Amino acid sequence: MGSWRTAMSASKEAIQAAASKFIDFVNKSPSPYHVVHECSKALTSAGFEELRESQKWVIQPKKKYFFTRNKSTIIAFAVGGKYQAGNGFTMVGAHTDSPCLKVKPDSKRIKNDYLSIGVECYGGGIWHTWMDRDLKVAGRVIVKNKDKLEHKLVHINRPILFIPNVAIHLHRTHNENFAPNKETHLVPVLATACQEQLTKPASSNEDKASDKKTEPYQVTKHHSLLLQQLCEELNTTAEDVLDFELFLADAQNAVIGGALNEFLLSPRLDNLVNVYCALEGLIEACKNDSFDEDPNIRMVNFYDNEEVGSQTAQGAESSLTEFIMRRLCVSENRTSFEESIPKSMLLSADQAHAIHPNYPEKHEERHKPSLHKGPVIKINSNQRYATTAVTSSILRVIAEKGNVPLQEFVVRNDSPCGTTIGPIIASKLGLKTVDIGMPQLGMHSIREMACTSSIHQATELYKAYFEHYPAVNASLDIE
Ligand SMILES: [Zn+2]
Repeated sequence: MGSWRTAMSASKEAIQAAASKFIDFVNKSPSPYHVVHECSKALTSAGFEELRESQKWVIQPKKKYFFTRNKSTIIAFAVGGKYQAGNGFTMVGAHTDSPCLKVKPDSKRIKNDYLSIGVECYGGGIWHTWMDRDLKVAGRVIVKNKDKLEHKLVHINRPILFIPNVAIHLHRTHNENFAPNKETHLVPVLATACQEQLTKPASSNEDKASDKKTEPYQVTKHHSLLLQQLCEELNTTAEDVLDFELFLADAQNAVIGGALNEFLLSPRLDNLVNVYCALEGLIEACKNDSFDEDPNIRMVNFYDNEEVGSQTAQGAESSLTEFIMRRLCVSENRTSFEESIPKSMLLSADQAHAIHPNYPEKHEERHKPSLHKGPVIKINSNQRYATTAVTSSILRVIAEKGNVPLQEFVVRNDSPCGTTIGPIIASKLGLKTVDIGMPQLGMHSIREMACTSSIHQATELYKAYFEHYPAVNASLDIE
């Protein structure tokens, strides 16, 4: 397999260019809905045609397609020039969601002269990192437009919320044992009550609304200040806002940093690194001759709700993946789906833990992935990761062809271990799977850290996988 030194020196400019494009993608993707929107835009401009699950599909070789479910999960696929039903699927899976705070269904809080917003904790975040940050709001709003219900994206791209810490003078043990209570201490402030009073006209819309018998549904549940912001962004009225899913996010943009401009300092690296790189890898891999000759379907599956266990209609645990594969296998041969499974493979692409400069004891002595030194194969004998000797061997051969260095990770026996969509899909479909991810630090903090070269390396690996997997799999004599 290629050494990290050769891989890095050969492509310094390509590394920085890829990292900058990724940073731009993150800054435009503060919620899973925005992630899917950005992916859709990139796919459309790369010649992918949008489909709807509810319609009948006519799929042709050498053509490229995508569809969304709930607007928070997206699947894109490119049909190889030599594809016929019963051939394999070359798949990369990742997730669109990240741990965050979400606005509660009834969020209005007025207490001690503050207007605050009730939020729920989504996923396993490091919640104290959300304090003392400039917070913005983004997500989707369901708007009534005459007799239609429309999904609209909203991104209020300025710091309208803040969760202040408590002063050390009032909490002397702050530096020894501070952990916020998730219900009472993580309540972002929107405004002060007195300032809000000053900005209100003598008889405000809200007062009028509460006089009416049929007041707008959302007005009673959320501060009018928040609703106003949404309505201004969407050019609609509170009466037409039926419901929404609003995610809080760091208002500070992701950047490239470090004295040598080598670090990605960014929210949601887990798992936008792999969403972005798998998408780029797929688009790039369809630009060359290998696509015309490919017997397989090349597919990326980006699921929502991984951070909360994947058991949702749009999550990896749903029947979505199987249904789509079956749909693309329809033919007179009634077992073409079953025949396609052993010819298929999934890269379960999710971030990995790099060795930490200040917590080196957290890693197993012989498995310490470093920044810059390549994608990390994740292995766990208790099957929290789905990698096997067969699947890692296939990936090693492909990485060699793509000149991408690889590293390995196993967790310490005395440490808890994360998991991914890998074991879920592998066990549901009986699909060969390898768990892979790029090394990063501070996973699930509001701001994480990784390295610039991971974007270029992951993209190259996924591209090589789409191009070479069918041939490498054909050389395999193990079923
Ligand atoms: Zn993840």
